[in-house]
Amino acid sequence: MEEIEIIKPDDWHVHFRDNEILKAVVPETTRHFARSIVMPNLVPPILNAKQAVEYKKRIEKVIPSTDNFEPLMTIYLTEETNRDDLKSAYKNGSVFAVKLYPAGATTNSESGVKDIQKIMPVLETMAEIGMPLLIHGEVTDPNIDIFDREKVFIDTKLDFICREVPNLKITLEHITTQDATLYVKECNQNLAASITPHHLALNRNALFVGGIRPHNYCLPILKRETHRKALVEAAVSGNPKFFLGTDTAPHLIKDKESACGCAGVFNATYCIQILTQLFDNEDSLQNLEKFISKNGANHYNLKTSNETILMVKSNETSSFKEYLHIGNQKIKIFKPDFPVFWTVSK
Ligand SMILES: [Zn+2]
Repeated sequence: MEEIEIIKPDDWHVHFRDNEILKAVVPETTRHFARSIVMPNLVPPILNAKQAVEYKKRIEKVIPSTDNFEPLMTIYLTEETNRDDLKSAYKNGSVFAVKLYPAGATTNSESGVKDIQKIMPVLETMAEIGMPLLIHGEVTDPNIDIFDREKVFIDTKLDFICREVPNLKITLEHITTQDATLYVKECNQNLAASITPHHLALNRNALFVGGIRPHNYCLPILKRETHRKALVEAAVSGNPKFFLGTDTAPHLIKDKESACGCAGVFNATYCIQILTQLFDNEDSLQNLEKFISKNGANHYNLKTSNETILMVKSNETSSFKEYLHIGNQKIKIFKPDFPVFWTVSK
């Protein structure tokens, strides 16, 4: 039997939502992860330090007592974000990072940024104090093809920000294209990128296998196979600029299987097993720990976890449950189309 012990991983991008969904999904993440950066796109969004602290308390209440887990909070950047509030929240440790959503880019992003020029003073302040900026990197112009929106964002917005504020620590989140991997590799050392398990496992054909597949719909949308391959190459390479951010994003079945289904893949439950298999399939298990436990912590100037997890490879494929139940509602759990032999043995 094959085993590997690795530093307990971190998830640098999660959606915990609120209320009943929050209660159900938090333990799915805290079971295997040491820390997560928690996204602020609630309804209404987390716009200031006070709201972030209140949300953190609601999260802490539902962490199982057996799990040692730290949620790292974020503020949703708008053209009105207060610089003094940010500064004090970052310095007293209540808020870890700021999230930039171009207005309308994804779920609950209506209050996002329309004009990058208007947020430049905030970005300057963040660079001064060392506060990270997390970016949903897509333009929202309806005239730009949905498959090109990440590349156009890099060319027209990200490159501008990186040049204007080179000292700002930036994460281009959930990258989906070869263009993004190339840009991140070549840009200054303050720019890194996170990658999701589903963008590593699926290409855009997965949206249309025998019919429309709403559970594979996420934003940024899945891209063609050449891009998926570039993401895998970046993830398994061990390059310190790439790390895991699952973008686990729960939506109830009724909201996914709908005439206008929500974007998001809920992948927290089996994420570590799936990634271990993916690295195994690529003969790159030696770089798994870098991708899921080390590179992100280094980018954010944090120590890695003191705890470890043990991964065990069995002769039989893991059987995954299909749904997470919430009262009489349910959420579909992501599983890839390749067999998974690895399990997490605490
Ligand atoms: Zn997200």
